Amino acid sequence: MPIAGSEIVKMLPGRKPCKDCGYPTCFAFAMKLASGGATVDKCPYLSDEVKEKLLDLLAPPIRLVTIGSGDNAVKIGNEEVIYRHEKTFIHSPAITLLISDKEDGARVDEKIKKIEELRFPWVGVELKADLLALRFESGDKNKYLALVKKVKESTDVGLVLICEDLDALFEARDICADGNPLIYPITKDNIDDAIPRIKARPTPVGVKGQSIEELIPLTTKLKDAGIEDLVLDPGSKNVLEAVRDQTYIRRASLKQGFRPLGYPTIGFPCFIARDGLKEMMAGSAFINKWAAIIVFSDFDRHSLLPLLVQRLNIYTDPRFPMAVEEKFYEVGQPDEFSPVLVTSNWALTYFLVSSAVEATKVPAYICVKEAEGLGVLTAWAAGKFTGDAVGTFIKKCGIGDRVKHRKIIIPGKVSRIKGELEDALDLEWEVVIGPRETTGIATFLPAFAKQLK
Ligand code: SF4
Repeated sequence: MPIAGSEIVKMLPGRKPCKDCGYPTCFAFAMKLASGGATVDKCPYLSDEVKEKLLDLLAPPIRLVTIGSGDNAVKIGNEEVIYRHEKTFIHSPAITLLISDKEDGARVDEKIKKIEELRFPWVGVELKADLLALRFESGDKNKYLALVKKVKESTDVGLVLICEDLDALFEARDICADGNPLIYPITKDNIDDAIPRIKARPTPVGVKGQSIEELIPLTTKLKDAGIEDLVLDPGSKNVLEAVRDQTYIRRASLKQGFRPLGYPTIGFPCFIARDGLKEMMAGSAFINKWAAIIVFSDFDRHSLLPLLVQRLNIYTDPRFPMAVEEKFYEVGQPDEFSPVLVTSNWALTYFLVSSAVEATKVPAYICVKEAEGLGVLTAWAAGKFTGDAVGTFIKKCGIGDRVKHRKIIIPGKVSRIKGELEDALDLEWEVVIGPRETTGIATFLPAFAKQLK
């Protein structure tokens, strides 16, 4: 739970404004600390005890945990709100594919290929799954370690090591420790043996309880031992329990500021659902209800894409429309006689226009004008898609060097900018008024392209 600046200032030394922290008064420094704009170490006069207390009070209510390393590192946690509309969700859940050491080599290869290759370009972003979970199920430690080695050599994707045999778990951790895997499960039965071994080579830790209550002493003990990169599994046995448990954990950490539950969570649709479709539905519930890692026994492109799109929709910032970069885009393989269309940079607008152009099979250029992520008509009304603004963009985006003709198509809804745009383009371009709706592109564009040729 965030602490107010007025509370922080009571803990500061109050030296008559020495300003050594870079702020004119202790109060100004306290306000900066509360808003996250300054760090505790800037005041050199804090005792270790106060410093530690402040660090604890100022820590995010749900800890940020990183799994994996390099470009494939996945960040989870650090969330600030229960509901997306209150502000925004921050780190989207890691969609994770399970591989058991009981699966044969061909199946393992197939799953590694899936995590590497199932990627979907979607309104300017690439959607993909994030992690592999490797499960010790065979009872043969060497088989499990061979699987871990094989996966480590085949992919840089981050790993979750699921293994109830503590020796095998830590040997597996040592094989891939440089990749910062999540080790799971640490339980009330193995925690005492596990703590020194975790500390020998720290990586994130998955803590499992049979209930939320059981998690609390476990996370407290780990924190006291200096192990804080934790991920919680409350042991939910079905979707109903999962939603209930995720809700309690989220509310306890964000509303009550209850530190022992202030960690991201992991959900296992692979273990609580009996068939593929139910597993996907359970996964969908976990996306909605705050799980930070969601483990599936399998997926293909048809089951994965809807989950990724659902995740994208929930984890985009509702305060800002999704936008694409300002530049000209190619659809197909356009040449110097291909049509040039212009539109605004709301991702949905761009996606609809580019899909409609693609469907005509007419190679074309789409010039996307930055308009703060607004649709064309709204952008025009807000003064972001005026003839002058579009003209300036067309001149600088380089499209003039790519085509020999000088005709540019504007959306029919902003036909009124035609004259102003032609003036802004020094009367070198003819501005053609296109369809009002993207559905009109299907008939308009092929005929227009024929004229250009
Ligand atoms: Fe106050 Fe510390 Fe800043 Fe000095 S350095 S003004 S004591 S907060």
